[in-house]
Amino acid sequence: MGEIIYGDELSRELKAAMKVKIEGLVKDGKRVPCLAVILVGDNPASLSYVRGKEKACREVGIESRMLHLPQTASQQEVEEAVLSCSEDPGVDGILVQLPLPKGLNPQAVIHKVDPSKDVDGLHPLNLAALYDNERGFRPCTPLGVMELLKRMGCDPDGKHAVVLGRSSLVGTPVARLLLNANATVTMCHSHTHDLAAITRQADILVAAIGREKFVKADMVKEGAYVIDVGINRMADGHLCGDVDFDAVLPKAAAITPVPRGVGPMTIAMLLHNTLQAYQWRLADEYVGL
Ligand code: NAP
Repeated sequence: MGEIIYGDELSRELKAAMKVKIEGLVKDGKRVPCLAVILVGDNPASLSYVRGKEKACREVGIESRMLHLPQTASQQEVEEAVLSCSEDPGVDGILVQLPLPKGLNPQAVIHKVDPSKDVDGLHPLNLAALYDNERGFRPCTPLGVMELLKRMGCDPDGKHAVVLGRSSLVGTPVARLLLNANATVTMCHSHTHDLAAITRQADILVAAIGREKFVKADMVKEGAYVIDVGINRMADGHLCGDVDFDAVLPKAAAITPVPRGVGPMTIAMLLHNTLQAYQWRLADEYVGL
């Protein structure tokens, strides 16, 4: 029977450690770290994500500043809001809540984020750092996947990792992080032939496709480490992942559930990146990407 690794538990532990670290720094007379969140419009899901991020910041002692722009904000207004945070010495991290309302160009907005404050890891210079395996910010969900593997006691070095999904926010950066950690990586997508024959070879299997319980037991190698990034709402209203959890659990060495798996790690990694940005700025270490 595989071990179930809960992301919410790991996230709580990481947040507790960050809280202690920040309290120590503030006690030493350092300023409080600050995350600026830019929200455009009133999309209920985005509002709820932003509230979750604010709450998490409060829990660890990070100040969060919300810049809430109306749905009608122009491209220039949004870019100016981002630039003001990039130029504000009191702001350590900047997060632009995506998706932006229709008609706005998210790439042009992200380009206005100072790369040394880009805690979402989406600025092209941070993506280049990921691809060159150099210092920079990594996207939060992929970073959460790597932390969960660490918690499983799984060192990717030399292992065959199979990543299902190739999106620029999840699948592709996960594959790159695994490659940087010396795994042999295969990426699969909707055009992949005989997917099960490939997934059966995986020592590490990461599913990020958004298809309810897609990965069945006969697609998984005995003793595999399985990370389920997918979040799907079933007909009965409950959430489930891309992996058929109950069927795969007995075969896996370790597996993450949905909910309580990768999801909570995403916010923990945002806080981690914000603290990292703060510490780099405090130490005046940042030399430009
Ligand atoms: P996405 O942009 O829709 O990408 C889905 C990827 O899966 C694509 O590369 C697609 O292939 C591939 N795919 C779809 N159906 C497939 C199939 N039958 N066989 C093989 N590959 C298939 O989704 P995403 O943003 O990466 O998100 C993936 C899942 O993770 C979603 O459920 C999302 O809700 C979840 N998610 C969770 C978190 C978290 O914090 N836990 C964060 C982000 C996303 P093509 O490229 O060929 O179309």
